[in-house]
Amino acid sequence: PFRQRLLVVANRLPVSAVRRGVKEFEARWIGWAGVNVPDEIGQKALTKALAEKRCIPVFLDEEIVHQYYNGYCNNILWPLFHYLGLPQEDRLATTRSFQSQFAAYKKANQMFADVVNAHYEEGDVVWCHDYHLMYLPECLKKYNTKMKVGWFLHTPFPSSEIHRTLPSRYELLRSVLAADLVGFHTYDYARHFVSACTRILGLEGTPEGVEDQGKLTRVAAFFNCLKLQFPIGIDSDRFIRALELPQVQEHIKELKERFSGRKVMLGVDRLDMIKGIPQKLLAFEKFLEENPYWRDKVVLLQIAVPTRTDVPEYQKLTSQVHEIVGRINGRFGTLTAVPIHHLDCSLDFHALCALYAVTDVALVTSLRDGMNLVSYEFVACQEAKKGVLILSEFAGAAQSLGAGAILVNPWNITEVAASIGQALNMPAEEREKRHCHNFHHVTEHTAQEWAETFVSELNDTVVEAQLRT
Ligand code: UDP
Repeated sequence: PFRQRLLVVANRLPVSAVRRGVKEFEARWIGWAGVNVPDEIGQKALTKALAEKRCIPVFLDEEIVHQYYNGYCNNILWPLFHYLGLPQEDRLATTRSFQSQFAAYKKANQMFADVVNAHYEEGDVVWCHDYHLMYLPECLKKYNTKMKVGWFLHTPFPSSEIHRTLPSRYELLRSVLAADLVGFHTYDYARHFVSACTRILGLEGTPEGVEDQGKLTRVAAFFNCLKLQFPIGIDSDRFIRALELPQVQEHIKELKERFSGRKVMLGVDRLDMIKGIPQKLLAFEKFLEENPYWRDKVVLLQIAVPTRTDVPEYQKLTSQVHEIVGRINGRFGTLTAVPIHHLDCSLDFHALCALYAVTDVALVTSLRDGMNLVSYEFVACQEAKKGVLILSEFAGAAQSLGAGAILVNPWNITEVAASIGQALNMPAEEREKRHCHNFHHVTEHTAQEWAETFVSELNDTVVEAQLRT
């Protein structure tokens, strides 16, 4: 059967969530390989090796990566889109280097566009991903107005009042609007984007998207109630199947023995400011303070995957978290047991599945989070146990798993502590009802469906635009 060619462009090769989602297409992956290859011979060799995996590398040199990736993407856009304030001195330094970093960002995006253009064939769909590539839609349309271009943001899009503070506020919005379809995780993010376009650019927001002199850019959250949102899903089958494997079963057995007699609470996060790990620990501490009965009957396993370890802000967060964990274990531990097991490492897929399966209560306290896949994965692994999900209302997943989870404001540790009590004491009947709700959602909305819907909406959008002119 005919399969449409899809060029997926993302900062890094490969994008696993998206990769799983595009089985229906003849897909190519375009992105930075994550290594600096300065010489032409090396570049040719890598290009050839990657071609077998249908990957096409974009070569960025160290200086560009420093300014574009570490600078503009990670120090400017990432914190801004997650409503994170910077310390005053960092903010001033960022302000000073802003223009050169934005120039590098545009240059890098142009380099991605060159590679896309070199591989583009008529009829291809080009799907750009994330905040790294907001300048790409415009670069692509400059090459070829007929190119079908979609852009999807994997982080939150902040309130227009936040976006307004960006010196590059006009250019970024204009460039994204060059795409035919713009997609977000939730209705709120899409609404923020549209109001940024109306307030900052003075354009007209319609129920379909944003209009500029008769040209419509569709914004995904707006045009169809059923497809109101494009939340990324997970490959829930992959998790459910993994639980059947003998080594995972073995692991589950070990964990159950290790923690028998205690309820298991679980946190799985990158050690990032957005994840609200200190807030989570403070809430757990408060819960133990107020509930002596539970002190030796509950354990919190916190997997904190190291990230951006060379950045001082992240080093500071690590020590802060270690200090709180130490204090809580000192206060409430005994000679034979501690209430928190904190791990500074990542786990492999099977270990993670086993952990999800033995958990009684998962605790997600993100201060801001585009979606949060961990909450989806936990639900997928809970068919036997029907554990409780405590979920921050600031995670995109709260829009889809809100009815089954206990939603909390992570800044309110009194509320989170009370939710921990509620979750640990929840009657089986209510747990089952909540779990069924979430399980249904997670198994119905897969990454596959998400990708197919996005691309088919993109195709439709282009056809409709042609009909209008
Ligand atoms: N993950 C992993 N190993 C670990 C911890 C997490 O592979 O030790 C994966 C997890 O399965 C999930 C992803 O990392 O798919 C985290 O995604 P999420 O959307 O929750 O947060 P992000 O890190 O993208 O902000």
